[in-house]
Amino acid sequence: MSLQLQDALLGRELVRLDAAPASKEAAIEQACQLLVAAGYVEPDFAASMLRRETVANTYLGHGVAIPHGLVEDKFMVRRDGIAVLQVPGGIDWNPGQSARLIVAIAARGDAHITILRRLTRLIQDEARLDALCVTGDAGEIIAALTGEAPAPAALAPAADLARSFDWVVDYPAGLHARPAAAWVDAVRASGLRVQVRHGEEAADARNLVALLQLGLRKGDKVTISADGEDAAAALARIRARIAGLTAQEVADAAKAASRRQAAPVRGWTPPGTPRAIEGIAASPGIAIGPLHVLRVSDVTIPDHPASLTEGGNALHAALSATRQQMTALVDDTTRRLGATDAAIFKAQAELLNDTDLITLTCQLMVEGHGVAWAWNAAVERMAASLSALGNPVLAGRAADLRDVGRRVLTKLDPSIVFDSLRNLPEGQCIIAAADLSPSDTAGLDMARVIGLAMALGGPTSHTAILARTLGLPAMVAGGQAVLEATSGTRAILDGQSGRLYLDPSDADIAAAEAWRDGLAATRAEAARQRGAPAITLDGHRVEIGANVNRPDQVPLALEEGGEGVGLMRTEFLFLDAGATPSEDEQHATYRGMIEACGGRPLIIRALDIGGDKQVAHLNLPHEENPFLGVRGARLLLRRPDLLHPQLRAIYRAAAGGGDVSIMFPMVTSVGEILALREICEDIRAGLDAPVLPVGIMIEVPAAAIQADSFAPHCDFFSIGTNDLTQYALAIDRQNPELAAEADSLHPAVLRLIAQTVAGAAKHHRWVGVCGGIAGDPFGAMLLAGLGVNELSMTPRDIPAVKSRLREQNFSALQALAARALAADTAADVRGLEGAGH
Ligand code: PEP
Ligand code: MG
Repeated sequence: MSLQLQDALLGRELVRLDAAPASKEAAIEQACQLLVAAGYVEPDFAASMLRRETVANTYLGHGVAIPHGLVEDKFMVRRDGIAVLQVPGGIDWNPGQSARLIVAIAARGDAHITILRRLTRLIQDEARLDALCVTGDAGEIIAALTGEAPAPAALAPAADLARSFDWVVDYPAGLHARPAAAWVDAVRASGLRVQVRHGEEAADARNLVALLQLGLRKGDKVTISADGEDAAAALARIRARIAGLTAQEVADAAKAASRRQAAPVRGWTPPGTPRAIEGIAASPGIAIGPLHVLRVSDVTIPDHPASLTEGGNALHAALSATRQQMTALVDDTTRRLGATDAAIFKAQAELLNDTDLITLTCQLMVEGHGVAWAWNAAVERMAASLSALGNPVLAGRAADLRDVGRRVLTKLDPSIVFDSLRNLPEGQCIIAAADLSPSDTAGLDMARVIGLAMALGGPTSHTAILARTLGLPAMVAGGQAVLEATSGTRAILDGQSGRLYLDPSDADIAAAEAWRDGLAATRAEAARQRGAPAITLDGHRVEIGANVNRPDQVPLALEEGGEGVGLMRTEFLFLDAGATPSEDEQHATYRGMIEACGGRPLIIRALDIGGDKQVAHLNLPHEENPFLGVRGARLLLRRPDLLHPQLRAIYRAAAGGGDVSIMFPMVTSVGEILALREICEDIRAGLDAPVLPVGIMIEVPAAAIQADSFAPHCDFFSIGTNDLTQYALAIDRQNPELAAEADSLHPAVLRLIAQTVAGAAKHHRWVGVCGGIAGDPFGAMLLAGLGVNELSMTPRDIPAVKSRLREQNFSALQALAARALAADTAADVRGLEGAGH
């Protein structure tokens, strides 16, 4: 974007040369006065600029300062514009920092970014900047800031490569990390050098951060060019990939918008008028207490210079270990939230491959710094440059970069502890932060933290999900104002309306307390209801289980209304530890689960490795199509060293009492379950353990179709709709581009479920569903109507599913299911939700 609108943004009347204000405050007031006089801002805007100075540093560097007012005062801006106060003698901005060009910014939208980008570029050209600080010609300043003057040589428009095509960004949210990571993948797959140019800025498209730094927004025109043999064909493929993402991006934006609309602003209204920061509701409830603002960690990284070889090796090892950790995180997130959300972590992991970051770290090591120090400095610099663009999407990437950076750092130097969340003030507090990283959340002290107010994030962000899981009131996307609040300020957080009220009066607090008590009473009532079984109006009961992996998560699942654990995924034992857990370690975990369940049913699923669930330390051979390869039961049958200790651990744990079942994943043929049962029986007999029900997951269409052949050999079936959907519809469950089409309510999937139920019924076996669709209230209605006996889901989904089922007649659900089976498309099935059901 270029600032040709110089008259609109920076006219001559907006430049004042040779000023000599007495103080920083006077400088801000004089600069703002120029904007006021020209009608750009309300007179009070200067006060807002001064307030911002108390909470943020607006000194950009090299003698340039950019006072710009608080976000919540944007309503005082009438038109976008900037004013420049030239102070040749300089004015102390911060200790040791003297400002000579004061660029006062009035911006409601994009103009701010444009100005900052121009300024940051100007800062690289010190000679020109020095000249501007003393020039007697306002035109020079206008030219430099509006891009009318020739760009400095180093910034000459980048030349395109041999072959090129133009494309106008049509992603509603611009080129953010997720599509950018897909671009990088497509470009890397081509093996060619590919460049993306926007105006005079170009980025190597193999580099995610460089691409993000272009700050592309919807409507921006880019030229994508490539060199090398077959460049034309490669560009055609890249173009198809880039354009192919549009539908998903549009769908995501629409989904986000409807989510926003779907959440009417309900909640508490203060009797007074305390200052309110508006965000997005993320987790309901009211928290009243002091704020604790978490700023970027102040941890000092020690600088221990080492030999370059040592440093290089340490960096390499730390990066590899972090990559592995990120793979586990992607896996976990895919399972809990789906491929679309996991793609965010994939993009985060991609930041580890950034060549600029690694080069910079090495440069700093060459200069004589230790590896941890150098890495941290490089991350901070890159993160700062992303943040400086003022684009919330990029600021989010900066947070990602810092989070990944910390992971690497703790591997480089385990003595470094990021304990910002562990060093909370005495008593309880509401945490205000940019966003909580997954690593931060691990250390959340629930006795101290009563609410979360985040500057970034969305309703499905990690923090939001965590807050709902923990039952903590939370708001997200509150913007910079959240971070600009002062620690210790009294605050009221309303997670239902997504508002944070600062410095409320005593009357406000009393009213909020009354509201909070009312909510607690309602929740207590709901909690009582959650405990009740899911019985339809006409008396048909559906069992409700929880998908839980760890003993410490069981109490919450039971509190939410879980009647047992319908799926304990055991891969996590292997993924988290970074090594194969011993039989005894496994035994301790299974025993812990049994005890936590307190006599309620527990279904332990045998290891489901392979496909998307890769465990690096098992060193399994690479497969071209891992979902169609040696995974689940196929792997278990080939790896007795994994299967036998696990079964022994389960039988030993069950020998101590409990209602335990064993379930095998990804079974395709009857022969597999016969073989697995035989192994189970051998191990059981050897341990003299009790006989346990043995069931299988129905995840492969073959097993669904042949359910009647499987049923005599299985005590139960549990349908894994996540996998069944991917195999039935031939859609990789990890492919974010196809995520919207991978709908488990597709009639083809429903027919496979109906077939499974029919096959089981012939032999009087029960059928559960433990895939994601079980936790969707409408999905649950259909599944119940299809005759599924048990639904197992993420604990937080239980109350809504139970209450939905209780409102129905089973006969109506059966009729609904029959209509769904006859539907042509998934959309038609979903349409039935509004059609009288
Ligand atoms: C499924 O496939 O639906 C399932 C529950 O198993 P997972 O998600 O662990 O593959
Ligand atoms: Mg599965």
